[in-house]
Amino acid sequence: ARAAALGESTGPGATKDGHRVPLLANIGGPQDVEAALANGAEGVGLYRTEFLFLDRSAPPTDAEQEEAYRKVLDAFPDGRVVVRTLDAGADKPLAFLPPPGDEPNPALGERGLRMMQHHPDVLAAQLGALARAAAGRSAKLQVMAPMVTDAAEAAYFAKACRDARIEHPGIMIEVPAAALRARDLAAEVEFFSLGTNDLTQYACAADRQIGGLAHLQDPWQPAVLDLIAITAEAAAEAGKGCGVCGEAGGDPALACVLTGLGVTSLSMGAPSLPFVRAALARHTLAECREAAVAARNARTADAAREAARANLPALT
Ligand code: PEP
Ligand code: MG
Repeated sequence: ARAAALGESTGPGATKDGHRVPLLANIGGPQDVEAALANGAEGVGLYRTEFLFLDRSAPPTDAEQEEAYRKVLDAFPDGRVVVRTLDAGADKPLAFLPPPGDEPNPALGERGLRMMQHHPDVLAAQLGALARAAAGRSAKLQVMAPMVTDAAEAAYFAKACRDARIEHPGIMIEVPAAALRARDLAAEVEFFSLGTNDLTQYACAADRQIGGLAHLQDPWQPAVLDLIAITAEAAAEAGKGCGVCGEAGGDPALACVLTGLGVTSLSMGAPSLPFVRAALARHTLAECREAAVAARNARTADAAREAARANLPALT
């Protein structure tokens, strides 16, 4: 199946009738660039920068950061690179950035942008390194913050980006409150990227680190599809991009549904790219929209999955 998908799927992502959906890669650093390029990534949709900060007692130097970012930008001279600022805390603890107090529920505690608001120096250093790495480069650098909850936080991040001369600020939508009020947040930033892993965790109150809750940690949950639809509609009204960078984007059937919901780009682990590219290429935008309506009309995750598949006849 992989060879077949690789064989039929090259070139930019698009539906059968030519509706463009850029297909981007999730990476953890320059070491992942080769696999992204080999699988035809048009750019990077999520650069998880935590890896640069892991297993060390102090942050990397400005020069180290700049070099890592520049390597990734140079790999996609005609594409975009979406870098996520540090998402420390919860499932991504960093030794040098402990939470300020005891946290019985770290996923509901200090993490992502919340943590950076306690350490504005760390955020400013990262944004500065990104701005310097992008200077004189042809790749389009977009920078987004994780775990943004409301418009005030979105505005805080947009200002931090402006201060650092980052031109294209965005936010992840992975908190249900942010999805429900996406219209307010869209006014503050240039783009959204849906983090469906955390969005599902928080919408279904199901810890993503507890294997026994996998049936609830399922992005096909109709409530999650509703939150995605609200977000994509708000972005479209504001004329802003709305990508997906959670695991959901790498599921070929769900990728079609997300496209039908109005998502404008999909980012995923590199091995999923050929399968998603093939699934999109075999269906029209109208079929994707019908599949999305059918999935949202379902009452359970399993029923949503089946309803979508019934409307996507050319899935393998
Ligand atoms: C997500 O939450 O969907 C996401 C892409 O970010 P991470 O998995 O790194 O939390
Ligand atoms: Mg997340």
